[in-house]
Amino acid sequence: MKRTSLAIRNKVLVVSVLLGAAFSAVSAAANAQTLNNEQIFEPVPRLVQSQPTLFPAPSDAIVLFGGGEKDLEQWQEVGSGDPASWLLLNDSMTVNRAMGASTSIETKRTFRDIQLHIEWSTNPVIDGDKQLRGNSGIFLHSQFELQVLDSWQNPTYVNGQAGSIYLQYPPLVNASRPAGEWQSYDITFEAPRFNAAGELETPAFISVLHNGVVVQNRSEILGATYTSQPSYDVTCTPYAQTVAVDCSGAMPLILQDHGQVVSYRNIWVREL
Ligand code: MG
Repeated sequence: MKRTSLAIRNKVLVVSVLLGAAFSAVSAAANAQTLNNEQIFEPVPRLVQSQPTLFPAPSDAIVLFGGGEKDLEQWQEVGSGDPASWLLLNDSMTVNRAMGASTSIETKRTFRDIQLHIEWSTNPVIDGDKQLRGNSGIFLHSQFELQVLDSWQNPTYVNGQAGSIYLQYPPLVNASRPAGEWQSYDITFEAPRFNAAGELETPAFISVLHNGVVVQNRSEILGATYTSQPSYDVTCTPYAQTVAVDCSGAMPLILQDHGQVVSYRNIWVREL
């Protein structure tokens, strides 16, 4: 569903291109939105030195993964609903490449508006580049991907690097740490709202701190990030699934298996 505010924003961005580099430098600081769901390569977010926020869950949080078998039981494979097959090691869980086919996992619990803390690490052994180096992702509301990628000295399209809302918004800056180091995302997510007639009332919004640095500042999500024409509908087909479902209520969180070794730990949410 297209909205007037988006149409206006698109016009502003078109004008910014016509005005040239000077205006582009200004718009780059305001989290440029992707047009036409395409890969974009400029401007490149500057690298910012930062440290991850590695802290335990507050007392009112729901711990979704703290380590161990019991916590893995809170997750299941997307589509099949089979038990999550990711590898447990120390306090982390890791994409299981021995499974061959993609085994993205989702929470058994469902959520709407949340604060989410999650720590992740890409493979310290670098064996690919661009989108094939440490690619994973966190799908809020089963549809909107906050990209996970090794974006330390690994150029790719900027709306596909770590901290991007995939193919929609590049991160404001590149706050990445080198491969193998633990990194953090602290997320505030507002789920979309639909009225009784199934019409969109408000889209989803997301704010993200990557290693303590703001990379998304209440970005307005345009729709599912894995579709060529992102839009909102009261029914949707969640990521890596084939059956459309009612998407107006609470939905699971999904962690992506993109075929590379990526680990997660210390995952907790607070419902807002
Ligand atoms: Mg991904």
